[in-house]
Amino acid sequence: MKKTRIIILGGGISGLAAAYFLKKQHENIDIQVIEKNKRLGGCLLTKEQSGFFFEKGPRTFRSKECSALRNLAKELGLDDEIIEASADARYRYIYFKNVLECVPDSPFHLLKSPLTRTSIYALIREGFRSQGCDGDESIHQFITRRFDQSIADRLIDPFTTGVYSGNSKQLSVTECFPALKTWEQEHGSVIKGVISALKKGSKRASLYSFKGGVQTLVDRLSEHVNARLDEKVMALEFDQNGVTVCTDKDRLHADYVISTLPSYQLAELFKPTDQELANELEQIEYAGLTVVNVGFASHELSHKGFGYLIPSSENERVMGVVFDSQIFPEQSRDKDQLRMTVMIRGDNQTKSDYEKCTLDALRRHLKIEKTPDVIEVMQWKRVIPQFFVGYPDFKKQLLDKVQARYPNFEMLGTFISGVSVDDCIASAKRLQVLNG
Ligand SMILES: Cc1cc2nc3c(=O)[nH]c(=O)nc-3n(C[C@H](O)[C@H](O)[C@H](O)COP(=O)(O)OP(=O)(O)OC[C@H]3O[C@@H](n4cnc5c(N)ncnc54)[C@H](O)[C@@H]3O)c2cc1C
Repeated sequence: MKKTRIIILGGGISGLAAAYFLKKQHENIDIQVIEKNKRLGGCLLTKEQSGFFFEKGPRTFRSKECSALRNLAKELGLDDEIIEASADARYRYIYFKNVLECVPDSPFHLLKSPLTRTSIYALIREGFRSQGCDGDESIHQFITRRFDQSIADRLIDPFTTGVYSGNSKQLSVTECFPALKTWEQEHGSVIKGVISALKKGSKRASLYSFKGGVQTLVDRLSEHVNARLDEKVMALEFDQNGVTVCTDKDRLHADYVISTLPSYQLAELFKPTDQELANELEQIEYAGLTVVNVGFASHELSHKGFGYLIPSSENERVMGVVFDSQIFPEQSRDKDQLRMTVMIRGDNQTKSDYEKCTLDALRRHLKIEKTPDVIEVMQWKRVIPQFFVGYPDFKKQLLDKVQARYPNFEMLGTFISGVSVDDCIASAKRLQVLNG
């Protein structure tokens, strides 16, 4: 019997996971992943540089009850490779008025902390506030409505920047933090929703990674995947027999195509034949960011913890700093090493500008005057989709349209799945192709 041929566009975690799960579900299929870079993994990239272990992209994953990533790691035999974050990683900071303030984690701390002490009344009142808004709204609007503007500015804004590199006044609460909206709808209050989740046994999520970094996952998944590297997809031609995928090297026939490309790349493929769909895909903006890894052969940090985030109101270019060697000390090549990652807004300045910005931030925020032994800059261009207010409806219409027009084609990737690695894997697993 002739094998069904599936081509997957893009070899990041979405593409690799989709290829893995499809191969597991169906015997008689031939799956090929096409990736424009010379390596697989997309955003997932671990590097050893001058004796330092660095992650350039994602580095921590949240352990929750039904973690798609955790289950996949188990299937791949990677259980023994998993490492949990150190106990110190539970301390998180916000850089507020030139000081690193610990994020409060107890009622007493809420009363004392400069981040929340002016919001005590708002915190108490939240449990009694009426529902107020049925439709979508921005994250900032939602939090200001339920709590107050200080909580939105000082706690939620930096958290939003940390996850989405975006502006909490522009991003959709329903798409970015759906639990907040659900808690309001089901319990009439965010705080009551959190309490109810805790009562049901939801433990506070812990963080984990792999001994050899995220590359471990990419390498193990790659063993199960047939990939063509260094080959860029340039166009798609649909006809009654399936889809022809035109790359810069070849023309390949497929019965079914799954795209995991960012929406703006996918738009390019549809432009010659479906301008309307291309226009819609182009409406989704992506934020770029710059990741600067710094390593000191030996240095003490004055703060213990995961790292810190910075509210937009502080007008800093740096969005946050991760204390990598404190989260996963076992990834350090020497126990005295200090490894940190500085996340900076934007991606279009020179590397030396980002180095200067990093050293200036470390000096002002952490009082580190010493020059790092290693400093490495990585610019991620147009990498995190920005889910605007109204995005859930927009996404639904987009998916319906694609399904109606292109029955042999499916879209995955962050603009459909969500941005976390866990979201990407969960969507890939849910994919229903060839199931009738
Ligand atoms: C700096 C940073 C830190 C992050 N931290 C975390 C974290 O700690 N935890 C977490 O859960 N998530 C984190 N994320 C988010 C997460 O890493 C990404 O959302 C996820 O990896 C996206 O995977 P993907 O496969 O959908 O997309 P991508 O990784 O972008 O993969 C898409 C692939 O398609 C390829 N491609 C594009 N165009 C073409 C074409 N025309 N032809 C062929 N191939 C093409 C690209 O080269 C790429 O390899 C982080 C992201 C970044 C950038």
